Amino acid sequence: MNDICSLCDAVSIDGLACQEMFDEFLALEFSNPAYGKVHMLTVSCFMIQHLRYSDPALVWMQEKLSDVLENGVYPSEIRLQMTSDMDQAKRAWKIERQPGERELPHINWSITIADVYPHKDDPVSYCAWVEKWARATMEEMISQ
Ligand SMILES: [Zn+2]
Repeated sequence: MNDICSLCDAVSIDGLACQEMFDEFLALEFSNPAYGKVHMLTVSCFMIQHLRYSDPALVWMQEKLSDVLENGVYPSEIRLQMTSDMDQAKRAWKIERQPGERELPHINWSITIADVYPHKDDPVSYCAWVEKWARATMEEMISQ
């Protein structure tokens, strides 16, 4: 049975929902640096497409994605910035979307986690697909 995710429209694979695919990705990324190098992209795509970020966090992530994808900044550098920016930011704004925030428009993402999932067995192709996913997410969140 193929369920469709109500948030990102991904079709489940082998009965796996987005969250379960994401958990598998995290396990790979934490255990193998060949996967781990795209960790920042994986997390931000998943969070963006599942409406988990607050408005200020969306603005921040969009900027960081463009640093990585367009300005050649290494995702590991962003992780360091994230730790310091996010700690400072804790007082001013929340990363997680808050109950009172505006309703986000539904976006027909051209790439979702279900497009990346079939490539998870090979780190090179996995990383290439996570990057495609990130590029599409960044462009499509801008055009909303
Ligand atoms: Zn989803």
